[in-house]
Amino acid sequence: MKAIHCPRGHGPMELKKLHKEKTFKGVDISYMGEAFVCPVCDLEAGTVQTAGDVQRAISDAYRKKVGFLTSREIKSLREANGFTQQQLADAMNVGIASIKRWETGMIQSRSMDHALRIQLQDDIQPDDYTGNREIDLARIKLIAKTFERIFGKRLLKAGDKFLFLAKYLWYADMLAFRRLGKGLTGASYAAITYGPQLNNYRDLIKPIKDSDVNDVEPLSEEEFRIIHQVAEKFPNEEDVYNAAHREKVWQESPTGALIPYSRANELTEI
Ligand SMILES: [Zn+2]
Repeated sequence: MKAIHCPRGHGPMELKKLHKEKTFKGVDISYMGEAFVCPVCDLEAGTVQTAGDVQRAISDAYRKKVGFLTSREIKSLREANGFTQQQLADAMNVGIASIKRWETGMIQSRSMDHALRIQLQDDIQPDDYTGNREIDLARIKLIAKTFERIFGKRLLKAGDKFLFLAKYLWYADMLAFRRLGKGLTGASYAAITYGPQLNNYRDLIKPIKDSDVNDVEPLSEEEFRIIHQVAEKFPNEEDVYNAAHREKVWQESPTGALIPYSRANELTEI
């Protein structure tokens, strides 16, 4: 490599590894960077190549700090799983350019980080989409009936698509998960255009309505309190609908993606 000379006339500069600290996207990070340093006046100068390395070091330090996979982790996990970049892109339904960029320093969104982990990490529990219990359709009905009793009006209407009911259920399930480590219904929720919705709701509505609530694990006192709290917070259907649309957890989920229960702590409306 051609030697770089100090612009102040001190002769050739030396390539050095440097410990750096900075605030990036509002987060304090430290990282190792490489730069040419003048041994006389300590002036630093980068090269095109070191600039790219520095950028990746910064982005990796940031991703480590906020709990995202780093470039190196994405690449090594991908290879350990036997995926080419194209295969991973296909599995995630994104372009190969996204995979290439994440592996060279571009920071993925939180929802894409989650999508990467689902493909690449075995320790992501499928439970994260069911709130640590098996789906129980009769319990969904029981909880719907409990909301109906509190409100003194019907939520399970004929021809209903659960547009509002699903949001009451979602908040109750997420709140229960947050507080008790376990949801109420075992339902999975998908982020659709109209907000969080029971995954495969079209196939579930009739079996839920037909299920027998007498044959179901009764609500504990704590679970009952959670349902009450959700009902009191959102007395009208529009309230729960609008609140769900203000949740980042929903906004950041790609359309159709399942919303993990582990994000229950990030809800802001309850
Ligand atoms: Zn100098």
